[in-house]
Amino acid sequence: MSKHQFQTEVNQLLHLIIHSLYSHKEIFLRELISNASDALDKLKYLTLTDPAYKSAGFDPKIEISFDSGSRPVLVISDTGIGMNSEDLTQNLGTIASSGTRSFVEKLSGDAKKDSSMIGQFGVGFYSSFMVADRVEVVSRKAGDEKAYRWSSDGKGDFEIDDAQRDTAGTTVTLYLNEEGKEYANRWELQNIVKKYSNHIPFPIFLHYEDTRFEGEGDKRKELKEQKTEQINAASAIWKRPKSELKPEDYNEFYRSISHEIDEPLMYIHTHAEGTLDYTTLFFIPQKAPFDLFRADYMPGVKLYVKRVFITDDEKELMPTYLRFVRGVIDSEDLPLNVSREILQQNRILAKIKSSSVKKLLSELEDVQKKDREKYNTFFGEFGIPMKEGLYQDFENRDKILNLVMYKSTKADGFTTLDEYVSRMKPDQDAIYYVTGEKEEILRRSPLLEMYRNKDIEVLIMDSDIDDIVISSVNKFKDHEFKSVNRSDSADSLKSDEDREREESAKPVVDRIKESLGDHVKDVKASVRLSDSPSCIVADEKDPTVQMQHILKAMGQSNLPDFKPILEINPDHEIVKKLAATSDQSVVKDISFLLLEQAMIVEGVELKNPTEFVSRLNRIMEKAI
Ligand code: ADP
Repeated sequence: MSKHQFQTEVNQLLHLIIHSLYSHKEIFLRELISNASDALDKLKYLTLTDPAYKSAGFDPKIEISFDSGSRPVLVISDTGIGMNSEDLTQNLGTIASSGTRSFVEKLSGDAKKDSSMIGQFGVGFYSSFMVADRVEVVSRKAGDEKAYRWSSDGKGDFEIDDAQRDTAGTTVTLYLNEEGKEYANRWELQNIVKKYSNHIPFPIFLHYEDTRFEGEGDKRKELKEQKTEQINAASAIWKRPKSELKPEDYNEFYRSISHEIDEPLMYIHTHAEGTLDYTTLFFIPQKAPFDLFRADYMPGVKLYVKRVFITDDEKELMPTYLRFVRGVIDSEDLPLNVSREILQQNRILAKIKSSSVKKLLSELEDVQKKDREKYNTFFGEFGIPMKEGLYQDFENRDKILNLVMYKSTKADGFTTLDEYVSRMKPDQDAIYYVTGEKEEILRRSPLLEMYRNKDIEVLIMDSDIDDIVISSVNKFKDHEFKSVNRSDSADSLKSDEDREREESAKPVVDRIKESLGDHVKDVKASVRLSDSPSCIVADEKDPTVQMQHILKAMGQSNLPDFKPILEINPDHEIVKKLAATSDQSVVKDISFLLLEQAMIVEGVELKNPTEFVSRLNRIMEKAI
């Protein structure tokens, strides 16, 4: 016998799971069955691909039995791949996945949310300790003679001993605690299995004792009989014809593969026949998964070949931007023993992937047209990854451009680019947009003043990704995108009158330019301002202020110092008075204050706030 300590994180997790998932404690069964099913998948795969395992009889099944007596016990047993003593120590004593730390951080205290996350990290097994005060795992690895017993009360350590098991597989015995004793019950078990594990592709048998009564009156006798019943459908639902399936079947299957409690937002089921035979069943969740923006996100699509599970850990099955899609790809044409290297360059898989993406995008387009409310929900959750598609997936860029939406100065909620174009002014040819961090600030930005006056709609792009995406896209159906944050965007909107104003503002512009020296790239009379005295814009080729923020956040520390272009409003009182004064020191202070206030409005940090304050104080003193 050997005694081992749990890794520290395991202890923390055990504590967290027991306390935060308490109100959903029934999920322990889903987790144990899903482990058993994974173990069966692994052995099935070996018996089909590895000659050493072919001869060994494989009788895949999961069995559940229980004893509701004074020491209630629940036993879950499988004929899967099994574990040796190292596997037991490693798998049930430590947490290998780095995602687990974030799991601990992400626990919200909201039991519903937390329980939907639990299966996504390698923590499923530990949920048994919600319902058991002692857990024993007896396992024999396929191909080995020896079996081992892992046992623990979930309080800091576990033991490993030698054990007996006639065949390969794993038996988990839960000594149920006060909280768990309700699960030593036939109906309870049957319901939970139906709810979560109905489509597990292996039969789940429940052993129970049936009580019958015979005779009447004094002759009445109680007869106890041992019975076994298969309690799951055990079919690969995706292989069934669509006409046979009801929405409830899809929802149930989705819950079983995604560990979600919600229904999916939508599902897309495709049987393809012809040059390639395959089936796909995709789901789009209601809510973005917590790890959507983590580099080590869990892929959501599982690969099967002729119903045999191959992998659920292959990020290449979907393009990165569609990483929120859950579901199954089942191919008839791929070889069973396809390795990861082969998968990544496999032409068959590449074709399945490419048609799947097209199918998903056109289904989304359909929803956008037919059920805008639903599409808005989708886009609210997954808009950012969809926009990533604009620079990741050139082949489908036009489709994705139809699918992305933006906030706008002229519409509530989200607007599609087509809708924007339909509202364009007769002589307008560009699509105008403003980028920045906060919608409320953008809506009030001085940069928009001219567009408001000319009644031109501007798209509000307030997510980090917009600047990068749009600068890589350039056009939507012949309409160029023009950033309101850039100096040349207003050029095409200038009237003759504007040009005259520019001309007559030249002296004051020159004065300011001289005062500011190399603090700015240029100073110009603005046509875009009506209420504010000044604003800053980026030179056409320079990154905008927002883009510079993003580049810095992404670790680009050696960015050159991009200087802004200062635009001033020649009609503003301050500027008019500036043109008239002969006090050089006032001209200098005001010039800098015009620049600095424009920077503050754009959210740019001032390099020298002390100087700014001194200037402000000097001017305040004069004003009083
Ligand atoms: P997860 O299943 O999410 O990886 P678990 O804590 O539930 O996390 O299980 C940890 C590991 O223990 C599994 O990845 C698997 O390798 C192993 N394991 C658990 N249950 C079984 C089983 N019934 N048969 C074989 N291996 C198992």
